[in-house]
Amino acid sequence: MSRKIAVIGGGMSGTAAAKKLVSAGDEVTLFESADGLGGRARSWHRPDIEPDVGINIMYVSFYEKMTELIREYGLDKELQKLSTTVHVSKDGRNHGLSSDSPLNVLKYPHSSITDRLRFIIASVREVSKKQELDLFDPLLTEPLDNGETAAEYGSRIMSAEGFDYLLRPQIEGFWNFASEDISAVHARSLVAWLGGSDFYVLRNGMETIAEHNAAGADLRLGHEVVDVRCDAGRTVVAYRDTTGREAEEDYDAVVVATPAPIAARITADLSDRIVPAPTRRFLETQRYEPALSVSFLVDPGSLPREAHIVAGGREDPPIRNIITYGRTRISEDQSREDKLLVFSYPGRAITRELIGLPQERQFSTVAPLLSTLWPDFPDSPEPFQIAERPYGFPIPAPGRYRQAASVIRSQTPPVVFCGDYFNSPTTEAALLSGERAADTLLNRTAPAAAGS
Ligand SMILES: Cc1cc2nc3c(=O)[nH]c(=O)nc-3n(C[C@H](O)[C@H](O)[C@H](O)COP(=O)(O)OP(=O)(O)OC[C@H]3O[C@@H](n4cnc5c(N)ncnc54)[C@H](O)[C@@H]3O)c2cc1C
Repeated sequence: MSRKIAVIGGGMSGTAAAKKLVSAGDEVTLFESADGLGGRARSWHRPDIEPDVGINIMYVSFYEKMTELIREYGLDKELQKLSTTVHVSKDGRNHGLSSDSPLNVLKYPHSSITDRLRFIIASVREVSKKQELDLFDPLLTEPLDNGETAAEYGSRIMSAEGFDYLLRPQIEGFWNFASEDISAVHARSLVAWLGGSDFYVLRNGMETIAEHNAAGADLRLGHEVVDVRCDAGRTVVAYRDTTGREAEEDYDAVVVATPAPIAARITADLSDRIVPAPTRRFLETQRYEPALSVSFLVDPGSLPREAHIVAGGREDPPIRNIITYGRTRISEDQSREDKLLVFSYPGRAITRELIGLPQERQFSTVAPLLSTLWPDFPDSPEPFQIAERPYGFPIPAPGRYRQAASVIRSQTPPVVFCGDYFNSPTTEAALLSGERAADTLLNRTAPAAAGS
């Protein structure tokens, strides 16, 4: 018999859960507080540039679930391939590092030849453990999550300086958390999987996947859930709709697919029987690095096109990374001009300082700092667009994969949780987590490991 299920959160995890539940015949209502789907993977769109899309979240060829969805939705032709080379800066000098090419690593001048060789040897060792070192699945990685941090791992396989310029930029240049704060599992999984993989963006933004996933669900955009409670055997969802009106509906079961601090807050009224104490502790203790993307338009030629430039070194830099994409600017008189759209992400301290401040202040603080990462950055870049993610990157602290695996195993209906904070801040991890939550509601209570 079809059940009524509420999914709270229309990001990758929530829509993956919705897709699975809809195809199992359940009646799914999807509550999303924003005015569109995709969550943190959602792009902004502006009609004055072509393609009109910003914040293009990357898809990497070893994402299995995403690959299947792209095929299923016929989106292969929307894929745009990116370079796998990351430009790492050291004392104002930038050099390309492509970890899928041992030859390139051997020629990389920002670290000693001994460290380069040790990095290649470590990579070969981690590749041999690929199946356990999964970036997305804590059920596979939990035995390896032994309390070691990524920074400790780095200093074990090479010198601290080697780590700062060979591996740290490939972690912190993608996620703005410190290698000292995260489990070695995250670093080792990257080393095991990055080599030989291709990077892509979807032409119209990653939210396209979430939109397809949500087909068949009753979509409630602009609906913010404020409370979930249990009443006489029913699960009640209280929400505020687009007009600010508060209302309640009851459901047979609920998937909570918001960032962990929001999940903890809106389920605070549920008893320990519904949300066991270890699950509640898990939700309450997840920490995030916020993300602030400040983008500018500059003339082509001033920076390489489709480049990913990241700061090397141990320090928290003023600007963590810069990503460039070619765009055509369309003026009011319909004239067209070739431009570079430059996304810049400040380091941790500056991001925390600027998040929530007026945009003029964010632009004017960031613009003069851009030359710290790219010394020839043009003097007066044109401020273009800002995107803030207060819950940017959940921090996979040492031991977090073990806790996540234990919480996954203990989840039972009627209220289950999912999101990237169970594994890694990637769309693939979010998809896997959402599917697992749906499986739990579909009474497939012992989740199988990914790929099995
Ligand atoms: C700047 C940045 C760059 C990234 N780059 C990449 C990349 O290149 N490749 C990659 O794979 N991953 C990337 N990620 C990570 C990826 O975006 C996330 O891991 C993934 O999108 C998380 O999905 P989620 O469903 O777990 O959470 P979210 O996307 O956060 O979804 C949660 C949803 O819940 C909604 N919500 C919150 N509260 C409520 C409420 N009370 N009621 C109703 N709805 C609510 C939110 O609006 C949101 O839509 C990036 C993340 C950031 C921040």
